[in-house]
Formats: sequence, structure tokens, C-alpha cells
Amino acid sequence: MASSNVGKIREISRLLKDFDVEVVAQTEYGVIDADESGQSFRENSLIKAQHAARLTGLPAIADDSGLAVKALDGAPGIYSARFAGEHGDDTANNAKLLQMLEEVDDRAAVFHCVATFVNADYEPLVAEGLWSGEILREQHGEGGFGYDPLFFIPSYGCSSAELSMNKKNAISHRGQALRQLVELIKQTYA
Ligand code: IMP
Repeated sequence: MASSNVGKIREISRLLKDFDVEVVAQTEYGVIDADESGQSFRENSLIKAQHAARLTGLPAIADDSGLAVKALDGAPGIYSARFAGEHGDDTANNAKLLQMLEEVDDRAAVFHCVATFVNADYEPLVAEGLWSGEILREQHGEGGFGYDPLFFIPSYGCSSAELSMNKKNAISHRGQALRQLVELIKQTYA
């Protein structure tokens, strides 16, 4: 798994639990995060998967994901993890988002996820998921990671941090992308 994000790895391990595979974080092979120099979720997802596969010699799955807020013209987008500066500082990222939306009524936002599977010289396989919601005015819930405590899902009447992991995986951008990716892997390698 081409990530060092514990929240993501936990969700993806659960999503792949019915398959005869062991999901191992790249950090366990001493691989540090790739430089996310791409201009899209798709480019960054491929960069990360190729980086992990090259350095480990193993098949790799990468997930590049983030939150696009309508009133911020799609920001933080591909910069979601480093929105407030330091990579992966969820507390600072959430505080910055709340502050930028303080005077804003249109709270619509979409989570994006592009999942990529890279295996040696085979063509990379790519799948995508989207999850729509609204940005709350304060944090709710203790589950999930990242922007989950601020992401309200109207059809469930709660934030994504208030969903169980199984429920979140059943409907989230990451769940959608991973399920699609698994289908592609099955079709390609059957
Ligand atoms: P990446 O590691 O560059 O793909 O960064 C993804 C970032 O987007 C995370 O660090 C979070 O800030 C945010 N993000 C992606 N997926 C989720 C999610 O399921 N819940 C909350 N935040 C997420």
C-alpha cells in the first residue's frame, strides 16, 4: 500500500479483507512518501503506486484523495493533506477550512479518490470514487481521519466521523474506488 496515512491504510485493509492478500504499508519496507508533483488526483495516484512498486518490487495500490469545496473553487483538492502547511496535520487543516468558510453559506463539498494498481510491466489499473456532502460549522464525531469530523452527509444526517468504518467504506469515495479497482484486477488477472 503506497501510503503512510494510517487512517487510509486501515480503511483499505478492511475493504480488501475478503481477498487472499496481505496489505502492508510501504513504510514497512522503508519506503518514504513519493513526491506528489502531479497536477491531478490521477497523476499523483500513479506517481505514488509506481514509486512503491519500483522500490519494493511488489504490486502496489495507491490512493490519492482529497476534498474539493465548491465555494473555494475546488480547494484544497490535491493539496488536502498539506492545506495548512505541514503534511497530514488534520487539526490545522480543519481549523483553516472552518476559518475560510466562516462567512460562507454554500457549504457543498465533494471527496475525490483515485485508486491505482501497479504490477511490474502490466498496464496500471485506475478507478475513481466521488462522495458529496457539506462542510459543517464545527467538528462532530471521533471516527475516521482528516476532514471527516467536518464532512456532513445529508442522507445519513451525521458527519463521516460519526459513521462506523464499515458504513463509511460502503458509501465513501475510497470504498467506491477500491471496489471498482478490485473488479478491474479480477477481470485483468482472471
Ligand atoms: P493524500 O495522502 O495526498 O491522498 O491526501 C489525502 C488527504 O485528503 C488526507 O490527508 C485528508 O486530509 C483528506 N482525505 C482524503 N480522504 C479522506 C477521508 O476519507 N476522510 C477525511 N479526509 C480525507
